[in-house]
Amino acid sequence: MTSTQSLLSNRVLQLAESETLKMARMARELRAQGHDVISLSLGEPDFDTPDHIKEAAYQAMKEGYTKYTPVSGLPELTKAISEKFKRDNNLDYAPDQIVVSNGAKQAIYNICQALLNPGDEVVVFAPYWVSYWEIVKLSEGTPVPVYAGVDREFKPSPQELEAAITERTKFVLFSSPCNPTGTVFNHAELEAYANVLAKYEHVYVVSDEIYEYINFQKAHVSIGSFPQVKDRTITVNGFAKGFAMTGWRLGYMGAPKQVAAACSKIQGQVTSGASAFGQKAGEVALSSDLGPTHAMRDAFLQRRDLVLSLLREIPGLNANHPEGAFYVFPDVSAFYGKTDGVMQIRNSGDLCEYILSKAQVALVSGEAFGDPNCIRLSYAASEAQLREAIRRMKAVLAGLR
Ligand code: PMP
Ligand code: GLU
Repeated sequence: MTSTQSLLSNRVLQLAESETLKMARMARELRAQGHDVISLSLGEPDFDTPDHIKEAAYQAMKEGYTKYTPVSGLPELTKAISEKFKRDNNLDYAPDQIVVSNGAKQAIYNICQALLNPGDEVVVFAPYWVSYWEIVKLSEGTPVPVYAGVDREFKPSPQELEAAITERTKFVLFSSPCNPTGTVFNHAELEAYANVLAKYEHVYVVSDEIYEYINFQKAHVSIGSFPQVKDRTITVNGFAKGFAMTGWRLGYMGAPKQVAAACSKIQGQVTSGASAFGQKAGEVALSSDLGPTHAMRDAFLQRRDLVLSLLREIPGLNANHPEGAFYVFPDVSAFYGKTDGVMQIRNSGDLCEYILSKAQVALVSGEAFGDPNCIRLSYAASEAQLREAIRRMKAVLAGLR
């Protein structure tokens, strides 16, 4: 083997490291070295999992839920998910159309592995969550972005969606509420997309609704509830965000039967079912009162308003108006080409590096999400941390000329 050849597969060499996890790692490392870093990089609620959900897991462990479960999930959980889909989303997925996974991330991976042949296209709304792009590529698919910028609250038009669809399109993939922008697609907007998609029977819709419960609009709408696309929609959801359960690794999908079976087959060879006691806790989370979830949503709304009012005081920064999730995705392109006399800011990666090194605030560059004009700030942090982080950002950004 020559020195230029790698031991590693082309697959992994072509894969980008998750930028969100990378920035979180860098923030952790800097903190361990004694730096006073405020991390607004990771999309993770700062709240703890509600007690009644933890109790359910302890109880399940005591009752012997310590064994393998069916690959697609415990029957009582798939039933609870089926009921939740009907109750909250007006979606009709029978329990055998549900696959519980180790996080929504694995659900998306399963879908890509189950549906994509080499060269198949996936239309991805841009800005998109970092892992969509890489998982599609890892599955030998070709991601095709449909982009809308901050001036349109990151909402592509139905015509733009239609223009991106070809004979090779396997599915359209987007999240609402959206990571990284916080954009929420309302009833009329989703209906307009559904009307376009109705014309293309070879195209599935993959709707990632993991931020469903962190929605500041009146109602969450699921695109799968429109009859035009009902039978071709795969709805992804999970426990990480709405129930502050990121570390539990529990997500799920509802899908046409054949797709669900294919995803289960893949998962059965890769990881098997999710943890048994975690699933029991998930069942309790879905069937209990959503009071704690709504309290977290209300806290996120307060923080959103705080962050927007503070960001408005930074000249050159053009923030969007998120309606859900816990991210704001401001356009920072006005800073490109500027310098503090030492460091030249060419792009959002440079700006994030500058802010991290000078203000010790960790953000994520928009490039990783398909929008080089922006940066992502996660406001899943205390009000004191948010105030201090934005104070520091304002000070160092004022140093750019
Ligand atoms: N989809 C979106 C839009 C996300 O932001 C995330 C990040 N957590 C996931 C899926 C993956 O979620 P999980 O932690 O359940 O794997
Ligand atoms: N989804 C969260 C984020 O975007 C968690 C990290 C990840 O899995 O990407 O930050």
